[in-house]
This record gives sequence, structure tokens and C-alpha cells, in this order.
Amino acid sequence: MTVDGMVLPQGGGPVAPSEQALAALHPLDHSAVRLSAAGRLGQWQRRTLDATIPHVLDRVESGEARSNLARLVEASDRPFVGMVFTDSDVYKTLEAVAWAAASFEPGDERMKRAEQLLSLAASAQEPDGYLNSWVQGTPDVARWSTPQWGHELYTAGHLFQAAVAAQRAGVLPGLLDVAERFADLLVRSFGSGQSPYIDGHPQVETALVELYRATGVEAYLALAGRQIDARGHHWLGEDKFGSSYFQDAVPLRDATQATGHAVRQLYLLTGAVDVAVETRDDELLAATVRLWDELSATKSYVTGAYGSRHRDEALGDPYELPADRAYAETCAAIAAFQLAWRLLLATGESRFADAMETGLYNSIAASTSVSGTEFFYSNPLHLRTGHDGAHEDAPTQRLPWFSCACCPPNLARFLASVNDYLVTRTSAGIQVHQPTACEVDLAFAAGRVKLTLVTDFPYDEVVRIDVESDVDDVWELALRIPAWCKNFTVNVDGAVLTIEAADGYARVRRSWSGRHAVSLTLELPVRRIKAHPRVDALRGCLAIARGPLIYALEEADLPPGIVLEDVRLLDVIGARRPTDEAVAPVLIDVVASTERLDGTGLYSDVSATQKTATLHTTLERTGLGLSEPFEVALIPYHRWANRTPGAMRVWLPTASAFHSTH
Ligand SMILES: [Zn+2]
Repeated sequence: MTVDGMVLPQGGGPVAPSEQALAALHPLDHSAVRLSAAGRLGQWQRRTLDATIPHVLDRVESGEARSNLARLVEASDRPFVGMVFTDSDVYKTLEAVAWAAASFEPGDERMKRAEQLLSLAASAQEPDGYLNSWVQGTPDVARWSTPQWGHELYTAGHLFQAAVAAQRAGVLPGLLDVAERFADLLVRSFGSGQSPYIDGHPQVETALVELYRATGVEAYLALAGRQIDARGHHWLGEDKFGSSYFQDAVPLRDATQATGHAVRQLYLLTGAVDVAVETRDDELLAATVRLWDELSATKSYVTGAYGSRHRDEALGDPYELPADRAYAETCAAIAAFQLAWRLLLATGESRFADAMETGLYNSIAASTSVSGTEFFYSNPLHLRTGHDGAHEDAPTQRLPWFSCACCPPNLARFLASVNDYLVTRTSAGIQVHQPTACEVDLAFAAGRVKLTLVTDFPYDEVVRIDVESDVDDVWELALRIPAWCKNFTVNVDGAVLTIEAADGYARVRRSWSGRHAVSLTLELPVRRIKAHPRVDALRGCLAIARGPLIYALEEADLPPGIVLEDVRLLDVIGARRPTDEAVAPVLIDVVASTERLDGTGLYSDVSATQKTATLHTTLERTGLGLSEPFEVALIPYHRWANRTPGAMRVWLPTASAFHSTH
């Protein structure tokens, strides 16, 4: 089976590199992977379609996002309301509906509502293609006069991505025309031979490349490349946070540190990978991998979140990863996932799929309530008892909407297309990166292949894969073995295979003609994770995980009268299935204690006795005053804040005695 013999995707997903692109792996059609309602990702996508998308439509229609566009069409003198980029909420919603449309019946209400929003945007577009309700409706703001904060290209980028989704899904006719009219104006204004213009918020780069992939218009790709290379020369100016906030201090090709606003940096890298693979620019691709390495080694939270600083939503310094002061914006986790997917396609390296798994099941999953209609903007790893943070988008509970509403519609469009990020193909065969219950249908010139995955992963360790194929050739089924998994087995038709996974994939190359039963077992022991010692805020703490799921201790599970911050971890008992799955399908029981805290002041001198105690474990056990041990259950981090509001923490301080022995 060779790539030449394959039928190329007709209706790709969010990322569909051209045939000329640098690529180790190829994505599938949007319709190739159908998530099963019995699986965890299938349930999540279903909830997104049934609850999140209608909720986002409600908010967009009834709020400023719609009214800011409507006032242009109605020639109303109502003022513009809200953030300058409210149009992007409309476009992300259109994109979500487009990806979801594959499971709609004809006449679906969600599609009708999306068509009305599209009609409004199309009516608001200027004859020359310009479209931005803030600039068009604000007489004292000229086009392209506010590059630092105007978000004109950022909103255009979300329009383009929505249009690509509509084209590939075969819905929302007219949206691609609106997008191309605007993109053509950008080419005339800022393309080759014109003065460069860059936006304070990257996003248009990746969107222009995808619009090129969808239309074949090479000027869009060239403009995207221009945007990447024009950045890093202080063109945007300093303003209050400095050039590095905008990633405008150092050209991306020369950068050794990921800097500034987390979402901006991650979207810029995403666009840079797209440009690099389409222009076969190895130097640019290497720069993105270098910055990814720096990010993952020194600036990523254990939950797959990015960005510790609230003040400027920035990544922070290397190892500046405090659990309680994690900003960890939902959009940054989504952007990191999108970046990792592009790097996975470009390189085929399993570590990118590992990172996607971590972000998906922890940071991204935690951002949405079990109802699908409330969201976190900020995703801290420790919410202190009595936390006060509502003023900085870090409340104790998820909210239905935000004054800066970037995250909820971003979640909607991402989850509506999450099936596109799980499986790839190459000339050698098929790669399963993220196991979940689903059906995978692939048509090759040599015949069809159907995979049926049955699993409750990440809660269960067994993944059953039925392979049905009428392809006679030998081909390879590659199954990712996550880096956290130290023991796995692969069984085909009842026989256990002796197999290595040196590069992160268990590869089974054989004839799959007919029907075959594959069983992959990924052992899920409870893991104890410690942080790099330079992460000062986490010294003496452990995080507990099982498979890809990071666990957390929530106030709701503590015995009465115990303050979360006083709890010390003594030991881990193990995982168990609770009777009430509503809390979580799998809990981890630990033994904990509270540790007596000396003194009434915030700081006090260490006495000679206490100094000695820290050196002698035997003394600590009697001398530091641990309370009676008690058992308590940890829940998956992503399930927190779905019960009584209260404190939560991922990183658990270990009791001094336990700490000295682990
Ligand atoms: Zn956001």
C-alpha cells in the first residue's frame, strides 16, 4: 500500500496540508473518524453539539457579538459594545457549527441560526472586502490604524478558518466568498510590494495558510509567510508590556525563548509550522520545534496548560509555574494542542501526540462543566480556601460567559472537530495516536479499511480494535504507546506479540486482509509526579496521575473541619471505581494527614529543635505533629468544581516523613 494508491482526502479537517507539504503523517477526512457515543471523547463531542453550541449561539445572538454587526446593517447609531474582536466570537461559532454539521439532520436549527449570522456578516462587508464591526462602526478609528490592540487581522483569521470549515464540510454557502473577498483585500494591501503590516495578536498566519490549502490561491500563503518574517523587528512598538509581549522583539527564526502573551505566542508558532511545511522551509520548522522544546521543558504546566502571569496573560519566565497563580487560559491549552498536531504531522514524533493527550484530558477538559454550558477562562492547579479572583478571570466556579468571550466558542469549534486529531495515515499504513471508542473508515485505491475501536480509555487500560480490510497488501498498524506507559501488550487474533515501541509506537506490519481482532493494553498504574526543583513553588509536592489523567484533591472530599492547605500526602492506596460515576469513573484513594503549623505570624525563626527534626525522620514522626491519618479520594482534575464550590489542589505537599523516603 503506497500513498500514491490512496484516495486523497476530499473534505479535510481543520488542518489539511497540500500534497507538496513537508509531512511525516497525513490527516484524514473530517468524516473518516466517527466517535462512538459510548466513548469518552464521543460523549464530550456529543455534549458540545447538544449543549455547548446552542449555548454559544444563544450568547452570540443575544449579546454584543451579533449586535455589533447588526448595527452596521441597520445603520443604527447604537455604540459599539465590548471587546474590539467580538466578530471573532461569531466566526468561531460558525466554525463550530460547520464541523458539527456532519451529524445534523436536514433543517437543523443550529445550522439555520448559523446561516442567519453568516447573512449578517456578509451584509456588513464593505464593497472592497473589508469586514470588522469595530472599525466600521467607530468613526474616529481608521482601518489598520491600531495594529497593537485592534485585532483586525486576528478577527479576519477566525473568519478564514470558519470559511475553510464551511467549505470542507460542504455547508454555509457564501462564507468562503466573504472570506476570500477580505483575504484578497489583505493581499492587495499588505502583500508583496506593499508596506508590511502585522497584527498585535497572531492568528491570521495559520488561517491564511489553511485558506490557501482550501482554495489554492498562492498569494494567501505568501502573505502568511510575510506576516511571520515581518514580526520580530519592533514594528509594533513597546506599549505597556513591551515588544516581547507581541513576539515582536526577536524574529521567530532566531528566537530561543517563547515569550509574552501565551495565546499569541502559540498561535504564531502554529502559523509558522503551517508556512514552514507548505514552503518546505526547514529552518523555520526547526525554529518552531526549538521553541516547542523550550516551552515544554520550562513553561508547561503538568496539566498541559500554558501561561502563569495574570497581568499580561503571559508565559512567564522558565520554571515560573506556581500552581495557585497559574493563569493557564483555556485558549492557550487549545492553541498548544493545535500547535502540537501540526508538529506531529510534520515530524511524526510521538512526543507531540503525548502533549496533545495531556492537554486534552486535563487542561482543556477541565475548562468546561459537565453540563457543557459553564467555562473556566483561567485554569489554576490550586484554588486556595477562600480564593478571591473573580476580578481577574479566575473565579471559583465556571461561568456561562465572559466579557472577553474568547474561550467558550473556541472550545465549541475545537470539540466539534476533535475527531480530526486522533488518527493519521502514511504510505506505510495507519497510525492511532489517541485511542477512544470510534469507527475509522478509510478508502484506498487497493480497497477499504475499517477500524472499530472499543474502549473506555483513559479510565480503562484495554483498547479493542477490530480491523476489517479488503486490501491484500501488507501494511502497518501503528499504535501510540504514551510516554507515561511503561508496560503494554499487543495481542492480534489471540496471540501476544513481542513488540518494542522505541519511537513511541507499537508497529504491527502484516496482511490485514479479512477480519482481525487487535487488543492493546496500556497499563495504568497510579503515578507520582515530582516537578523540576527549579519550580520553587512545587518543592516538596507530588502530583498524582493515572494514565494521562492528572488527579486533584477537592475540598468536597475532605473530612469536615480540615483545611485543604493543611493536608499532607502520606501514601497512595490505589485506584477504584466508585459507585457514583457522576463524581468520576475512577477515583484514587490516598492516605493523608494534616500537619501542625507552628506560630501565628506569617514568618518565624526556625528553632534549633525544628532544624534537627528536618534532618531526622524518626524525630519528625513524633516531633512535627502529624494528625491521625485519614483516607481521602482524589478526583480527575478535569472533574473539579462540578460539586459544592471550594478549594482544590493538584500538587499535594508530602508530609516530611513521607517526603524523605519517596
Ligand atoms: Zn480564551
